[in-house]
Amino acid sequence: MEKFYPNLDIKSLASCPLCNNHYSSREIKILSKKDESVILYFNCSRCKNAVISVISAGVFGITAVSMVTDLSAAEAEKAKNEKAVSADDVLMIYKFFSEKGKSIVERQKSK
Ligand SMILES: [Zn+2]
Repeated sequence: MEKFYPNLDIKSLASCPLCNNHYSSREIKILSKKDESVILYFNCSRCKNAVISVISAGVFGITAVSMVTDLSAAEAEKAKNEKAVSADDVLMIYKFFSEKGKSIVERQKSK
């Protein structure tokens, strides 16, 4: 496979999904750049919304996943270094809300 260069023509392809403004280079920040993937932060100067995109190259070609965010570039930069959510974390949250849910129902019944 041909080597992937994440900064290849991304600027000309990128426009805001919310207002279609074409991003200038000042509105794009590279949060992370590894061998075959790059995480970009787009901050639209027109509508003031921000988007994080993960662009990567794999056996099926180049894929891009984007999401609108309310994180600042600094917060996004910090968040990418956080530990991933594990299955145990999800189970702990599920158990917490299951128990809280029961106690709320029981409290309502006793009224
Ligand atoms: Zn916009």
